[in-house]
Amino acid sequence: MKYPKIREIGEALVSLFSPAYTTAFPAKPHIPFDNFRGKPVVDDANCVGCETCANVCPSGAITFRDDTEKKIRIIERNYGLCIFCGQCQEHCITQKGVKLSDKIYDMATFNRNDLVEKQEKELVICKGCGAVITTREHLHFIHDKLGPAAYSSLLNLNMLNEKLKLADEKSISVEVTDGLKRKDMFNIICPNCLRKVLIKSL
Ligand code: SF4
Ligand code: SF4
Repeated sequence: MKYPKIREIGEALVSLFSPAYTTAFPAKPHIPFDNFRGKPVVDDANCVGCETCANVCPSGAITFRDDTEKKIRIIERNYGLCIFCGQCQEHCITQKGVKLSDKIYDMATFNRNDLVEKQEKELVICKGCGAVITTREHLHFIHDKLGPAAYSSLLNLNMLNEKLKLADEKSISVEVTDGLKRKDMFNIICPNCLRKVLIKSL
């Protein structure tokens, strides 16, 4: 019984005269070790709003909401729920949309709302059925990624048209008011409506 007490007193004396094992944060900045996984940082210019990171986020920190009235996708990233696993960075389809930083202790706050970040991306809506196709930036990304193979997709032809400005969007994209017709295959329509146009020859 005596020996453990003597050992504890010895350890207490050693720690009293040794330098602190913990860091002096926030008095001094925290210097993380290599490959430290901290707060994810979004690069909006390279994020296309595809939803992939939300689908792989294990803690549900990333959520998406589509506002079809305003034609925008709202992406919310709640870093109060983030476990810094790096899955969002790992699976980002552009590989540049989100990257983990080495900052984590700087996130400390009394207001949890400070930890929520929002992004907005323009949506492309099907002119036939009103379904959300995806974001405009996502379609452009797919078009660039596919290269020449993109020309097999009518939706991608519309993206090419936007890029080259061959015709203004109004002339190729019109509301479908009298039901889907064969001519609508060049309109902005979702794969389901395109299938109906092509297979049923409406
Ligand atoms: S690091 Fe992990 S938990 Fe945090 S936002 Fe990315 S996927 Fe979600
Ligand atoms: S996976 Fe990448 S591009 Fe897609 S929404 Fe997430 S950060 Fe943006």
